[in-house]
Amino acid sequence: MDFKRDDGITRRMAILQQRAKMMRDHDFYFYNQPIEEVLGGSKVIVNGREMGMYASYSYLGLVGHPRINAAAKAAVDKFGTGTHGVRTLAGSLTLHSELEETIADFKHAEAAITYTSGYATNLTVISTLIGRGDYVISDKLNHASIVDGCMMSGAEFRRFKHNDMQDLERRLEQVPQGATALVIADAVFSMDGDVIDLPNVVALCRKYNAYLMMDEAHSVGVLGKTGRGIEEHFDMWGSVDIKMGTLSKTIPSVGGYVAGKRELIDYLRHASRAYIFSAALPPAQAAAANESFKVILDEPWRLEKLNANTQQFISGLKGMGFDTMLTTTAIVPVLCGTDERAYALTQACQRNDVFVLPVVSPAVPEGLARLRATVLASHEPGEIARAMDVIGKAGREIGIIK
Ligand SMILES: *Cc1c(COP(=O)(O)O)cnc(C)c1O
Repeated sequence: MDFKRDDGITRRMAILQQRAKMMRDHDFYFYNQPIEEVLGGSKVIVNGREMGMYASYSYLGLVGHPRINAAAKAAVDKFGTGTHGVRTLAGSLTLHSELEETIADFKHAEAAITYTSGYATNLTVISTLIGRGDYVISDKLNHASIVDGCMMSGAEFRRFKHNDMQDLERRLEQVPQGATALVIADAVFSMDGDVIDLPNVVALCRKYNAYLMMDEAHSVGVLGKTGRGIEEHFDMWGSVDIKMGTLSKTIPSVGGYVAGKRELIDYLRHASRAYIFSAALPPAQAAAANESFKVILDEPWRLEKLNANTQQFISGLKGMGFDTMLTTTAIVPVLCGTDERAYALTQACQRNDVFVLPVVSPAVPEGLARLRATVLASHEPGEIARAMDVIGKAGREIGIIK
């Protein structure tokens, strides 16, 4: 069986090998680094060194929270580690309905449904709700799972310029009379940290009779007075039809959900394939997620501290001359320009125990390579100041700032 292959798969693997090797040779390969230990909510041990964590999505610092850990352990003692298969048959536990009620309540919705990942949630929900002959209109910077869901649906897939309401209207105008249209956007954009213009998106959806879906992966626990997300932020409760989110970021578990009207959730429960053909969330993760939503409401200081930390981090970096683009949230892009500059800045930060990661092309457009730093409620102001010193000093050496 030892013969030389020359086909598409072999070639693609070889190209990837080459690219990764080049990065390793330059000491620019930063992916898949194993974290050996998590210390509190803001530090990790990587390669034996303690580093400040600036690449986490655990915005409220809930990873390792004693109440959440205890809920997960109790669930294991009561229900074990797995389920009995899919929810529809024997997989539904009381834990799942409790979690779904908690989510519905948190999102001020009639009902909610959970899936085993946020990625799978977008795939299955979008492709269940729309199909051939329908139109789906998606922001250009939407997450890959949305893009994949749109393509899988078979609907006409149109993209509008990032957060550009004129362009969104143009796309909506192009939908034929009587056709079903769904508009989808991230609430907080995962690479840029800016917030969708919800008031205008909602007005356009109403004008053109389109459904609206929001992906709240980076807005739950981050936006709104009590962390309930985009509708609370704009004081526009009830304006989003399909409120999607993940249980893997601010909520320190795994899984995804949709909250909305009872008919919507009932329909998804009987028609979405990731619910019908894939096993239920494990007990520990369901219980951890359920407890997390309660902790967010019981400990409002976390969101207050996140807001203060975000303010400190963004204004500090801007003050040094960095371009942080349009972010107003805990996702803070530090624009570098070329991929090489982003790698160099990452390397300098990690050598000085600031754990951040670069985002380069093709994940972002050529010339917009950046650090994608995140700030957490668990960071102390002194830690943030030190991280900014490291980023600033390296930025000057590399020539990103003066
Ligand atoms: C992370 C993310 C997802 C996927 O969620 P997982 O639970 O990690 O699968 C979906 N949408 C957005 C915007 C995300 O950032």
